[in-house]
Amino acid sequence: MTATSASQRRILFVDHAGVLGGAELSLLDLATSFGERAEVLLLADGPFRTALAAKGVRVEVEPLGALGAVRKDAGLPSLGALVDAAAIAKKVARRARAHDVLYANSQKAFVVAAAAGLLAQRPVVWHLRDILAEPHFSRANIMAAAQLANVRAAGVIANSHATADAFVAAGGHRALVHVVHNGIDLTPFDALTPGTVVEVRRALGLPADAFVVAMFGRFHPWKGQPVLLEALAELPGVHALIVGAALFGETAFEAAQHERARELGMADRVHFLGFRDDIPALMRAANVIAHTSVLPEPFGRVVVEGMLAGRPVVATRAGGVPEIISEGDTGLLVPPADAPALAAAIRGLREHPAAAAAMAARGEARARAHFNVDVMCAQVGRALDAILNEVARV
Ligand code: UDP
Repeated sequence: MTATSASQRRILFVDHAGVLGGAELSLLDLATSFGERAEVLLLADGPFRTALAAKGVRVEVEPLGALGAVRKDAGLPSLGALVDAAAIAKKVARRARAHDVLYANSQKAFVVAAAAGLLAQRPVVWHLRDILAEPHFSRANIMAAAQLANVRAAGVIANSHATADAFVAAGGHRALVHVVHNGIDLTPFDALTPGTVVEVRRALGLPADAFVVAMFGRFHPWKGQPVLLEALAELPGVHALIVGAALFGETAFEAAQHERARELGMADRVHFLGFRDDIPALMRAANVIAHTSVLPEPFGRVVVEGMLAGRPVVATRAGGVPEIISEGDTGLLVPPADAPALAAAIRGLREHPAAAAAMAARGEARARAHFNVDVMCAQVGRALDAILNEVARV
């Protein structure tokens, strides 16, 4: 392969999910920026396909079969899953021949792409958006993923230094890694108007003068919805917006949160909104954005989005989050799973609105400069150049 720039290379992005998680929303921006050169292959159908097509991105679906049911926190896959993986790898390899590089956007996609790349003789890049550590992943899964990357990945693009460090601690080669933080599209934040707060609050039936804390994330124990509920119990009169859905089947956990809000006598001030596509407006309508993950968050797009909405963000001090927020300057950090600390931080922001607004303004400026989608796409382009030029050299 000759040394061409990333903007000229044909890229086959591969993602195992059909739903719109953070990894998929990030890929949506990335694939859009690569325009005609990009094609996305999804290993499950769903709203992600519709969203890609709406942006004019070429997208195809090739369902995963038994491999789709393999859990990342369980042991190694069954024989049936491996047989399906081989079959899907052949299909992906056929498609890969029309491209210069395979770009895996998730761990399952990387397993498939690694095999397909071997068959099609194409380099494979893994955009690593997970912290490869227990209990997110089983021990067997972590070791297998890092070793597979060492032998089959031409490069690994990690979404934070925390993600990169976990990869190396799992046995992955540091030399493979390029860190590129997530970037968020500023357009919907720029479209917010002075009327947004009133309009959103009216539509949600929220009192105009209510103090509102909002959290955004799919329902999963590690996203920490229970921590927000416990903190809210210490904050009489404060309303909460809990935004997100059980994307990967955690419906019992979601129902338990509704039940807990009732038990705590807060059903009238906890508003479960389900999955929404108007995140910037909802954030702007809140007074504080809370990020409550109880395990290290690989990056935390919602943290950046809260900053871009010009709202003070209280987030968990773990994973990639301290790379986004500088404590006390551009946001507040609290220990994971510490409801009293979260409540105290929210109370402090309520009692000191001028200081909270100044911190939010500094956060917004930092997010605009460092975590916007153009910065991310340019950095991914440069990382791809470096990775693929190295492949061409050896
Ligand atoms: N999100 C959304 N609608 C919702 C809840 C969340 O579009 O109802 C988006 C949110 O704005 C963010 C992404 O989902 O861009 C979640 O990304 P994050 O990195 O916070 O978490 P992940 O899902 O990757 O674990």
